[in-house]
Amino acid sequence: MDNIDLHCHSNISDGMLAPAEVVARAAEREVTVLALTDHDDVSGLDEARAAARQKNIRFIDGVEISVSWRSQTLHIVGLGIDPQHPLLLQGLAGIRAGRTKRARLIADALAKAGIGGALEGAYRHASNQNLIGRLHFARFLVEQGHAKDLKAVFKKFLVKGKPGYARHEWASLSDAVQWICVAGGQAVIAHPGRYKLGKGALEELLIEFRGLGGAGIEVVTSSHTPEQVGIFARYAQSHGLLASRGSDFHAPEESYFDLGRLPQLPESCKPVWHDWL
Ligand code: AMP
Ligand code: MN
Ligand code: MN
Ligand code: MN
Repeated sequence: MDNIDLHCHSNISDGMLAPAEVVARAAEREVTVLALTDHDDVSGLDEARAAARQKNIRFIDGVEISVSWRSQTLHIVGLGIDPQHPLLLQGLAGIRAGRTKRARLIADALAKAGIGGALEGAYRHASNQNLIGRLHFARFLVEQGHAKDLKAVFKKFLVKGKPGYARHEWASLSDAVQWICVAGGQAVIAHPGRYKLGKGALEELLIEFRGLGGAGIEVVTSSHTPEQVGIFARYAQSHGLLASRGSDFHAPEESYFDLGRLPQLPESCKPVWHDWL
């Protein structure tokens, strides 16, 4: 039986392992189909694809795009994209430039709260200097003893109302879905249970997303409780959306689910890989 994991990160974004190391770990855990989905960057895909070929893993080119929708940040995973498509590359480069600017604002805000050296500190934790994110700041804050672990960081810092928060406008939902679709991929809403959306807004999101050409939602992800798996399986069904499965693995010590170590999709779901396997 296939073990399919369509959401994980390498050190090209905010994971800790190099792309080939992610693939090697997935192979050890008997993953048979793997998508690497780094935030806003596709530059790890060549290395991961080559490693996957050696390990006999079917590799899916992926990305996780940061989006602003209404007052929320959403993540849209693109699966089966052409990582060389100019429109996609241009869009992702714009988001990364925005991250660089936001990083300065985060560091300024932390400095105001008495925490100096955060910009350099965060970049020391970033293997890819073109992709800086809050997790790099979070690792710096733990290293400096400002919080005991990452979970504590995201309670005390870097979030709305706390030191080190910087409001940021990401790509629009329609742009992100369009970039994925023109690059030949399928757009999937990542970890839908994580957003602070009421029932009405969630329904509106799913309808708008599908209207834009979105293909599916993650049903099984480390962000979902067993109850949420059921809830989102029903949403997928009622909105004519495919279902995806992904660990959202970032690092051996940090992730809730390891690569490939997650429940199967409920039987009622039509999987996003339905037409590929
Ligand atoms: P960014 O896209 O730079 O705003 O950072 C978002 C990333 O921070 C997510 O992809 C996670 O990797 C990480 N993150 C957010 N909230 C938490 C949390 N509570 N615990 C651990 N990591 C988190
Ligand atoms: Mn992340
Ligand atoms: Mn995400
Ligand atoms: Mn992710």
